[in-house]
Amino acid sequence: ADTADDPLTAGLNPQQLEAVEYRGPALLIVAGAGSGKTRVLTHRIASLIQRREAWPSQILAITFTNKAAAEMRERVEALLGEGASGMWISTFHSACVRILRREAESIGLSSTFTIYDSADTRTVLKRIIKQLDADTMGFTPASAQAKISKLKNELADVESYARNANLNDPQEVMFLEIFRQYTRRLREASALDFDDLIAETVYLFRAFPKVAALYQRRFRHLLVDEYQDTNHAQYALIRELTRPVERAIVDELDAHGVLVRGLVDERGEIPGASLTVVGDSDQSIYAFRGADIRNIVEFERDFPGASVVLLEQNYRSTQNILSAANAVISNNFDRKDKKLWTADGDGDQIVGYTGYTAHDEAQFVVDEIEALHRAGTAYRDIAVFYRTNAQTRALEEIFVRSAVPYRVVGGTKFYERAEIKDAMAYLIAVANPLDELALRRILNTPKRGIGPATETAIATFAEQNELTFRQAMRSAGELGLGPKVTGAINALADVLDEAAAMLVPSQAGIEAGTNEGASKVSDVLVFLMERSGLLDALRNSRDPQDETRAENVEELVAQTRDFDRENPQATLVDFLTQVSLVAAADELDDASGTVSLMTLHTAKGLEYHAVFLTGLEEGLLPHQMSATEPGGPAEERRLFYVGITRARKRLYLSLAMSRAQFGEVAVAMPSRYLQEIPEGLIDWKQSPGMATSRGGTQPRALNARRGQGGGASGGAWGTRGRDLERFSVTKNAGAKTEWANRVTGTVRDNGDLTLEPGDRIRHADFGEGRVSQVTGEGTKRIAHVSFDTAGAKKLLIKIAPIEKL
Ligand code: ATP
Ligand code: MG
Repeated sequence: ADTADDPLTAGLNPQQLEAVEYRGPALLIVAGAGSGKTRVLTHRIASLIQRREAWPSQILAITFTNKAAAEMRERVEALLGEGASGMWISTFHSACVRILRREAESIGLSSTFTIYDSADTRTVLKRIIKQLDADTMGFTPASAQAKISKLKNELADVESYARNANLNDPQEVMFLEIFRQYTRRLREASALDFDDLIAETVYLFRAFPKVAALYQRRFRHLLVDEYQDTNHAQYALIRELTRPVERAIVDELDAHGVLVRGLVDERGEIPGASLTVVGDSDQSIYAFRGADIRNIVEFERDFPGASVVLLEQNYRSTQNILSAANAVISNNFDRKDKKLWTADGDGDQIVGYTGYTAHDEAQFVVDEIEALHRAGTAYRDIAVFYRTNAQTRALEEIFVRSAVPYRVVGGTKFYERAEIKDAMAYLIAVANPLDELALRRILNTPKRGIGPATETAIATFAEQNELTFRQAMRSAGELGLGPKVTGAINALADVLDEAAAMLVPSQAGIEAGTNEGASKVSDVLVFLMERSGLLDALRNSRDPQDETRAENVEELVAQTRDFDRENPQATLVDFLTQVSLVAAADELDDASGTVSLMTLHTAKGLEYHAVFLTGLEEGLLPHQMSATEPGGPAEERRLFYVGITRARKRLYLSLAMSRAQFGEVAVAMPSRYLQEIPEGLIDWKQSPGMATSRGGTQPRALNARRGQGGGASGGAWGTRGRDLERFSVTKNAGAKTEWANRVTGTVRDNGDLTLEPGDRIRHADFGEGRVSQVTGEGTKRIAHVSFDTAGAKKLLIKIAPIEKL
């Protein structure tokens, strides 16, 4: 091929080119972060289509998020210079939903099945646990959910679990009962949880080889990104999809008019699809969801004849960033040593910062972002990562006061708001009348005088008479309820029936098999919101919060309008599916010009010009929950590695010396992983408290802007609008101090400083003040101080830069 001008191959290095041009049964691309794995997949798809080796419809590419899928589709189409409809680029979950909706009947599901999210699952489990009194045995909805999810990811169902369970163990017997009931309830509601989407597709394929054959025949090329994070069920699905179609089935397909000519080999079989997987075991961060690194390690054994391509050169980051990443990850055992390198030079030093508090740390982040922005970096090219969602609080408190536009990715949780779930439950109840969960949610929302006793009475009546909850609602008259309650129940059922009628296509539509004549999703939603009284109840409420809730429901209506406009042929079920599959990372919007704040898990696969890794403290990273788990600290280290390798040019590592957690202020220790980064790669800027506590180092000048001080680099630091002034600190380059001292300045330890109410103290930043109260114990003693000019402050005595006067 003429690689020089072909946009599909121009600029690829030899290994990348080899991967793009590989034609064979199975290809594994293993490579470190930023080495072009995703890019190779994209080019490979485009190359297959452009050279007419595959139709777009013969391609199935799996990405980790819907957002990544949309991006990949865009890039493929850009490379081709034309649209490529029919190509499936989606997440495992989206692909499975598509297959299941088409094939639902084979496995006894309604094609309008509901997808339960995590909260729905917990609601169902809560009811079951209550009914079985299982809470007395220590079961919680969350614990049962985790266990069920784990089993489903291993493709275990109730029967297989029962076969292996120890029935002498009451705990196990109880769990089995919970699992059984949970499975039954979802069945009856024609609902699937997230894990079911994958598992049920595998069952479908295994139980119905002819159905499987349709997909095996169709998809000639299967490509999977982020393969290191696939779990067993996803792995099984890949195996099913890439199986050859046996001759007998080929003949049968042929007899049914399914096109097989041109696909069969000399034995009369359709060979298995060509499989390409790309991954990096150093970036495996989903073990807690059952991801199995072995999938990548054992690829060659599972797919005989597989070729392996290694990519080494990194095209994303500077060498300083890569050296830090290499150094950190080399501390993990059981890995193939690989070193990321770039031809692009060292780049800037990594910047380190130790804040006195989480707010101080956040202020540093905001100041640096403003400086980067002034220097020409677009906000959308900057990201701030953290380990836990709770860390957004302190960050947001500082961000909102700044001029920096920002967005918490996955943090708005629009669809998790109660009022949105209520509105969605109306739509679900219409789409899937079997869904008891949705019906029970809206039964008395808005309040219409139907109490919990009535709800239970309907549920019991349904069970006793083998009716669905919805049917039982229509029998309210037989339950001996008052006329008012019966009227309310019937009125609700009427509204749902009318809405369902709105969704029926016209005669012409039915004949043509289209949705023509059916009401739009937005119209149905408006009808439901008005007629159910939900919107009025929110609008007329005295609770000031309800005003926001009403606005949110209106926002949902606006979203359905957009959906209708963008998808003129789509049905209500399509809308519900889309909402169910919205993953955290899908809310990313590059064009929006905002700084993105997100967890390290969400950051996977992404890249930014400048990245801030915050909260690098023991307990947060590694997270305290992981410390005791086997493999926990190694997985946390991979998470840190993922974070570091998102940065293209600028990387900032920060922590706070004290952090409020669980309502308490605690002394924080620097993350152990920081010390794995070689000295010299990081330029540590410190915070005022630590600076002044360092023997001999004098602050240059109060209120000085960084950048004016001798050893400090970087842009000017805005200090406006905050009560904590910063000093510029000269780095003490020659001093070989203890590592911890390097990070935190001289770790101040006022350990045995005894303070009592009435004492006068001097603080490095706040000046003199009087202690009004001392609370807490040991290392967590806090002095409440009224400063003469700086106002009231609470200080952690152990580390505050204070002296007693
Ligand atoms: P991750 O492990 O983080 O998912 P990756 O291996 O998928 O990373 P990509 O995202 O595909 O890496 O590539 C990283 C960056 O390098 C992208 O900006 C990509 O466009 C660029 N890149 C990859 N290969 C080349 C190349 N041959 N020439 C120029 N740029 C490249
Ligand atoms: Mg990638």
